[in-house]
Amino acid sequence: MPDESLLKNIFGLNLSELESLFIAESIEKFRAKQVFKWIYTKSVRTFEEMTDLSAKMQAELSSKFKIGSLSLIERQVSSDGTKKYLFSLSDGNLVESVLMCFSDRDSLTACISSQIGCAVKCPFCSTGTLGFRKNLSSDEIIEQIQFIQNLEKLRVSNIVFMGQGEPLNNYDSVIKATRDLGSLIGIGARHITISTSGVVPQIEKLAEEDLQVTLALSLHDAENEGRDYLVPINTKWKIAELMQSMKNYVKKTNRRVTIEYVLLRGLNDSNEKAIALGKLCADLHCHINLIPYNQSCSDSEFQRPSNNRIHYFSMLVKQYSKGKTVIVRKEKGHDIKAACGQLESSYRT
Ligand code: SF4
Repeated sequence: MPDESLLKNIFGLNLSELESLFIAESIEKFRAKQVFKWIYTKSVRTFEEMTDLSAKMQAELSSKFKIGSLSLIERQVSSDGTKKYLFSLSDGNLVESVLMCFSDRDSLTACISSQIGCAVKCPFCSTGTLGFRKNLSSDEIIEQIQFIQNLEKLRVSNIVFMGQGEPLNNYDSVIKATRDLGSLIGIGARHITISTSGVVPQIEKLAEEDLQVTLALSLHDAENEGRDYLVPINTKWKIAELMQSMKNYVKKTNRRVTIEYVLLRGLNDSNEKAIALGKLCADLHCHINLIPYNQSCSDSEFQRPSNNRIHYFSMLVKQYSKGKTVIVRKEKGHDIKAACGQLESSYRT
């Protein structure tokens, strides 16, 4: 067995880079196209799986190269079919991804991470408690999808940047990954959602990218006082400025945005909060997702509201938002720590 650490990682090279590398290693150039197709179209992660290569060629490639830098540390499967993955990067950092299946549709949605830790430090979020550690490269972002497709022998249809990290604080890598996901893996921007806590300058920049992604805003409170606490980035960019940037995004892209609102008992689930949320969204081309807090961490100080409260809250939001679509998101992976950062945090020392 070759020493893994000496093998060159070819995941993330574009076709011409791979061809140049093969030529430099005295491997026929046309092999690069074969290998490239296996990696991205068929999500293969070992040369042994490339059945149109001879055993000799497979052995030669395996002695020089490896495909990807992630290794799987843990895979959990929820009773509802949600799967959660904990990966280790080559530098030992841990990163999470989640695969969600919905009984009412065929599509599979992967929730992926863009950073290790997060500087925004939302108090209810496990990733936030870690603080910011590092940005993922675009390759490390894409590899989460490729790894899942290889492991589960399926194709992911939709991607949401709602895992660990604030994607717009890792702007260049996230945009590159979004473009590459289309050209390499075949998942177009229309099937990708970027969820932000409200990095106003980057929302404005994203509007200029000519990308058909869905933009989601994690609002969580429609009033500055409450939002300063729940989403501390709000102390920098207040709600009025944030909502103006969301309206600009809609105007520029002609795309409906999504407002995400995690429901926390006693904090942001009152009738007044529902009315404030409805009024704030009334003039925005959006739909509203209410997400009851995922209470799979029994020691969390935060709690999910009762079903009655969730129902009444959603009714008020609909009424005051001039009839916007309000969806109470089905909780996925309730039993496997599927909320962002929860699995990773159980490995922290
Ligand atoms: S909820 Fe999102 S933005 Fe807030 S700390 Fe967690 S990862 Fe960061």
